[in-house]
Amino acid sequence: MKSLLLMISLLTLVSAPSGTGSDVHALRRQAMVRNDIKARGIRDEAVLAAMSRVERHLFVDRRYVDRAYEDQPLPIGEGQTISQPYVVALMTEALRLKPTDRVLEIGTGSGYQAAVLAEIVSEVYTIEIREGLAERAERLLKRLGYRNIEVKHGDGYFGWEEHAPFDAIIVTAAANHIPPPLIRQLREGGRLILPLGSTVYFQTLTLITKRGGELEVEQLGSVAFVPMVGEVQRGRR
Ligand code: SAH
Repeated sequence: MKSLLLMISLLTLVSAPSGTGSDVHALRRQAMVRNDIKARGIRDEAVLAAMSRVERHLFVDRRYVDRAYEDQPLPIGEGQTISQPYVVALMTEALRLKPTDRVLEIGTGSGYQAAVLAEIVSEVYTIEIREGLAERAERLLKRLGYRNIEVKHGDGYFGWEEHAPFDAIIVTAAANHIPPPLIRQLREGGRLILPLGSTVYFQTLTLITKRGGELEVEQLGSVAFVPMVGEVQRGRR
């Protein structure tokens, strides 16, 4: 009986305040970080803290709010998807970020990955080729108070020369080659991560480190991203 009462009061606690259900989301988010991210080997405290803070349910399509803290990609409109939380964590950790870093993201999508980055580093520049998504992400990120993120509508193939060089570059759409402008805009010692591969369904998560003019290449496993479009599809094959 006592435990039943306790459960009921816990339930009211969880669902009552302010009517937004934000505490439910907070609990689900903590569970996601614990079970799907930490338990699967992500150790970087800055990444874990960032993923605990960013409210993924605000970035997904309204119809999927209840599934926002499942470890799955979800639709964000225009046939695009927000990445699976574990993959966001894996890619972010692989970039070995420092608080003073300046990061470029290609494929803003919902803006979620940009928000996670912005919790960790000082400057985030993000480019989205679909105007509707770029505008929506920019509005949301502004509303959430991120002042260290700049969103641009354009083809990320060409990078963002004006703010180069970058300490890290993250490409969140699949490409069959690394856009040469991105390599040029990476500073010495900088890291670039992208889903590299020519198939529609699977790519290899590839981490590049620029060292002494050479590129060190590491493969981090298989992933499934929506394709990068624009110049990359006209370029080398
Ligand atoms: N990082 C996003 C998810 C990315 S989905 C998030 O956190 O929600 C991939 C995104 O890449 C899509 O929005 C797609 O429109 C965009 N994209 C595809 N090709 C691109 C290009 N050449 N330049 C910039 N963005 C591109």
